[in-house]
Amino acid sequence: MKPREILNRLIRLSHELGREERQLAILGEGNVSADLADGTFYVKASGSQLATIDAAGFTRVKGAPIWEALAQPHKSDDEVRRVLETCRMDQKAKLPSVETFLHAICLKEGGAKWVGHTHPVSVLKILCSKLGAEPFRQHVFPDEIVVCGRHLAVVPYVDPGIRLAVALRDSLRNFMAEQGAAPKVILMVNHGPVVLGQTEREVLNTMLMLDKWASVLLGNYVVGEPQFLEKKNSDRIESRPDEHYRRRAIGRLK
Ligand SMILES: [Zn+2]
Repeated sequence: MKPREILNRLIRLSHELGREERQLAILGEGNVSADLADGTFYVKASGSQLATIDAAGFTRVKGAPIWEALAQPHKSDDEVRRVLETCRMDQKAKLPSVETFLHAICLKEGGAKWVGHTHPVSVLKILCSKLGAEPFRQHVFPDEIVVCGRHLAVVPYVDPGIRLAVALRDSLRNFMAEQGAAPKVILMVNHGPVVLGQTEREVLNTMLMLDKWASVLLGNYVVGEPQFLEKKNSDRIESRPDEHYRRRAIGRLK
C-alpha cells in the first residue's frame, strides 16, 4: 500500500474513532498510527482532533531516533521535545504526539500494523475505579473474547510520554513471554486502552467491542455482580477453530 493510501485510511479510522456519539474520544484525546514498513510510520500530530483530522494532522516519523531515545528514557521534557522534533521526516510537519513512543513500541515490538488509542467513557468508568483493570481479566460474553482476545495486557498509571511508553513496553514483553503472542488490547489504568491491529478495520472493531464489553460490565455491577464465564469456557472460545475463522473475517478490509 502506498503511503498516501495508508494516510487516507488513517484519516478514516480517526474519524470513526472520533465520532461524537461513540464517546471514545473528545477534543484532542486519543491518537492513531500506521506502519509504513520502511522504518517510518504515521502518527497523529500533537493537538489534532480525531473527529476532524486531515492529512496535515499527521506526521511521518523515523523509528531510529525514537528507539535511541527509548534506550535511555530518563529524559527531561526539553530532551523529549527535541527527539519529537528530530524524528520528523519533514521538518515543517507538526510535532508528533507525545505518545509517539508508545505507538513505536506497539508497531515494532507488538507486531501491529495499525494502532489506536482512545479514552472511552465506558472503559474509563472501570479503569478509573478502585477495581482498575480487574473486571477485564475475566469474560462475560463470547464475542468480547473473539474480538478483544482472551487476555489483555495491563499497564499501571504512569505520566504520559516516554515513561509511559517504557512501562507499556515492560507490560508488553511480559505478556508476550507468558502468552507467546502480542495482546490485541493494552489497558492503561486511569488512562485508557491501546488497540493493536493488522488492519485499520480490526482496530476499530476491537475498540467498539471493548466499549460494549465495558458497558455490559457496568450494567452487571448495577444489577449485582457480573456472572463471569467459567475459565474453561473462556479458554475454549479462544481456541475454537470456527472462532479463528470469524476473527479473520471480521478483521478483513471492506
Ligand atoms: Zn491518552
